Amino acid sequence: QPTIGVLALQGDVREHFAALAECGARPVGVRRVSEFDNIDGLVIPGGESTTISRLLTVFDLLEPLRKKLRDGLPAFGSCAGMIMLASEVLDTRPDAEHLNAIDMTVRRNAFGRQVDSFETDLDFAGVSGGPMRAVFIRAPWVERAGDDVEVLARVPHGPAAGRIVAVRQGSVVATSFHPEVTGDLRVHELFTGIVKKLGG
Ligand code: GLN
Repeated sequence: QPTIGVLALQGDVREHFAALAECGARPVGVRRVSEFDNIDGLVIPGGESTTISRLLTVFDLLEPLRKKLRDGLPAFGSCAGMIMLASEVLDTRPDAEHLNAIDMTVRRNAFGRQVDSFETDLDFAGVSGGPMRAVFIRAPWVERAGDDVEVLARVPHGPAAGRIVAVRQGSVVATSFHPEVTGDLRVHELFTGIVKKLGG
């Protein structure tokens, strides 16, 4: 049974706990550097990326976490978590830090004020069982995905049609939307599977 940490500084930590437990993982909250050593993978929840960034800095977690990710810790980030995993972020605060775990440029709050929040069904590469319900809440999108980044999902229709909203690079996965709130476990299953394969 893999132990999967959920970065518990801010955001919808509890929803990820529930989804991971349903996937057969053992979720644990992570707030301290020492706790990075006892996990097989890490989830960065949705919330507010600039707040998560500030708290990572305040608690001296930023560099240790960057190192863990460089050393191959599997990670999954939803929404604000996606922003944190990016190598470049547009429309954020100038002092906001991110983790450089996926070679991508992410635009924060990309869908704009008119469509603050919305839901849609989308095709998610590599998962079976039909379209996935995706809940977007002041979500980012991926404006540039590097050569080693696999695009897993795009917005299917509407003004943002074609925008990239789920990606994977190696053992790091990110979604613009919140799979932790729909009861659809397939993204958490994908991530738990990646962690298990790596020996967790
Ligand atoms: N807009 C938030 C941010 O910039 C993300 C919103 C979310 O995680 N639901 O961090």
